[in-house]
Amino acid sequence: MSVSWINRADRLKALPTYVFARLDELKAGAREQGVDLIDLGMGNPDGAPPQPIIDAAIAALSKSGNHGYPPFEGTASFRKSITQWYQRCYGVDLNPDNEALPLLGSKEGLTHLALAYINPGDLILVPSPSYPPHFRGPLIAGGRIHPLILKAEQDWLIDLAAIPEAVATRAKILYFNYPSNPTTATAPPEFFQEIVSFARHYEIMLVHDLCYAELAFDGYQPTSLLEIAGAKEIGVEFHTLSKTYNMAGWRVGFVVGNADIIQGLRTLKTNLDYGIFTVVQQAAETALQLPDIYVKEVQDRYRLRRDFLIKGLAELGWNIPPSKATMYLWIPCPPQIGSTDFALEVLQKTGVVVTPGNAFGVGGEGYVRISLIADCDRLQEALVRFQKAGIRYV
Ligand SMILES: *Cc1c(COP(=O)(O)O)cnc(C)c1O
Repeated sequence: MSVSWINRADRLKALPTYVFARLDELKAGAREQGVDLIDLGMGNPDGAPPQPIIDAAIAALSKSGNHGYPPFEGTASFRKSITQWYQRCYGVDLNPDNEALPLLGSKEGLTHLALAYINPGDLILVPSPSYPPHFRGPLIAGGRIHPLILKAEQDWLIDLAAIPEAVATRAKILYFNYPSNPTTATAPPEFFQEIVSFARHYEIMLVHDLCYAELAFDGYQPTSLLEIAGAKEIGVEFHTLSKTYNMAGWRVGFVVGNADIIQGLRTLKTNLDYGIFTVVQQAAETALQLPDIYVKEVQDRYRLRRDFLIKGLAELGWNIPPSKATMYLWIPCPPQIGSTDFALEVLQKTGVVVTPGNAFGVGGEGYVRISLIADCDRLQEALVRFQKAGIRYV
């Protein structure tokens, strides 16, 4: 207990209640009772980084010059490896000096971008459901969110035509993310063209999150915002090493795109942090230069799990089309039960943790997200428990 005159800032009070809180409580309780939890809740990759990344980190760690404050804007060679990687993947040239900025993970950058650009009361367009930092960042900054409700019937694509003229005219920023967490939806290149025209017309800054750039399957290649003509004048795109290279704990990502927009974020960050540990930057550089075979390995692993779980869920009544990308399945709750109740029921009856779709906004109600972060043996065990507990889609 603290004294009554110590009060949290309004910006914290603006945050919606944390849907995971109840789930976390139950998880802790189950663990205490010795339940063997199968946690498919978080998007936390279960593998280790490829060996060359570890080797690069160990070598970098042994150098005495690598332990001081790193440069604010990242090392020149990491920034160069980012733009080279970008050129290799998307055929677009970027200036490593001002069109690429390393981040302490993309969540950090996404949230700080909101603080750098949003004034209290500014209107921000955010899909619902979406990755929580896409709306929590703007809320912390005092922005007003206009949710763009996504629907299964529209393949979870943003319906730009449904945005009222008065809203589009006032909106300052639009956040979006394809391949999408949590819906696993992908967007065709034409959608990217439309969203760029829309944003240019209404003078809205575009923030695209391409964290699943490389977790794509069956030959599908995700589109980058910056491949679209005119996008670099009005937008930025966030990338991460967390997913492709199993480096979630290392905290390293980057933003690419418009130099002025990036400069605003850099200015804020020079007041907040001291950049990324040089050792991590050198390891990340190695990651971005790895031959394709390593990326293929991680893709194969998630694809195998995706197919395995889709097949098993089909036997329990779920008809899930294979997602072309990401590390999730987005599955409808059985009729007559909401996301939270269904996730709680699954946890209580089976010890399997799934994430209620409404944790990603009201548009996620009626769904749960399953992360493919366990091997097929564990997924099989989860399916057996579902079977025994009568968890099925009817
Ligand atoms: C996992 C994830 C990230 C990665 O965040 P980091 O902070 O880079 O680890 C970013 N965006 C989305 C949509 C994600 O699912």
